[in-house]
Amino acid sequence: MNTRNRGITVIGVDIGATHIRSGRISPTGEADLLKKENLRQTCRTPDDVTRSVIRAIDDLLRENEAGQAAAIGIAAAGPLDLSSGAIVQSPNMSFERIEITCPLRETFGLPVYLLNDCAAGALAEVVFGPLKGTGDLVYITMSSGIGAGVIAGGRLIAGTTGNAAEVGHMCVDSTYALPCGCGGSGHWEAYASGTGIPAFFRRWREMHLPGRIRHEHPSSAPEVFKAIREHMDFSGFAGALAAVNGRGLSNVIAAYEPEHIVFDGPLIREHADLLLGPMLERTDRYLPLPQVSISSLEGYAPLLGAGAYALEKED
Ligand SMILES: [Zn+2]
Repeated sequence: MNTRNRGITVIGVDIGATHIRSGRISPTGEADLLKKENLRQTCRTPDDVTRSVIRAIDDLLRENEAGQAAAIGIAAAGPLDLSSGAIVQSPNMSFERIEITCPLRETFGLPVYLLNDCAAGALAEVVFGPLKGTGDLVYITMSSGIGAGVIAGGRLIAGTTGNAAEVGHMCVDSTYALPCGCGGSGHWEAYASGTGIPAFFRRWREMHLPGRIRHEHPSSAPEVFKAIREHMDFSGFAGALAAVNGRGLSNVIAAYEPEHIVFDGPLIREHADLLLGPMLERTDRYLPLPQVSISSLEGYAPLLGAGAYALEKED
């Protein structure tokens, strides 16, 4: 980060599938005035999302005693249309199109920079995280969906429309053929995301333990993990999940051969023993295994990355 910018701050916003996080980001990676709003409770229409983001930024600008922010960086769950600055047909949100950059520019008169939330996460890891300066890194988030951000040769890979590395939609299975929110089948996030795990568990039980469904069916991933820990009957599911995750990780390594892979998201942060080790054991042996870690940025990587991106653009 250029030292010329040490005096300026930017506003960062992270629009996820469930929450809008916002805060003031400094060039050294300090985030303060942090706010979090439950998007599913407060937003009924796409315009509600835009209005919530505007309100959050307005509050931050009013509280920003250090003076006017230089720019606004927005990290959002894709798919994105970067040419028009909108979120389009996200499988994890029920809205067709959410306008972002135009309404924010008109409201605040500041530069607005939009990028995929996983790309932002990757940027935060190499700009502000312990892996600062790493040139080849893949950041993978396992939360409501599964996505990745890729730094290759020191550059953020964006893709033609800003949707590179949508690894959650890589095919990892044909046995269970679970439908994905995108309309496809056998995709990684249909099995191993927060919403996918309960559906995968149900299908696995139907196939492997038919007629032995004595327990209530868990409706969330943490409940599935609790069931795995408490009932030996379900240990086979942990293996099936590890196989799918190993396939997904193998695909990522084969595509990018990064030096580091950083996992993020509440699922893997809270259940690393059930997810990370078994996944690594099922990764293809012929691939060079990168250094693998869990993000130390405590869920703030996309927000910090949105700030890092805006600071970089303003440099
Ligand atoms: Zn998909």
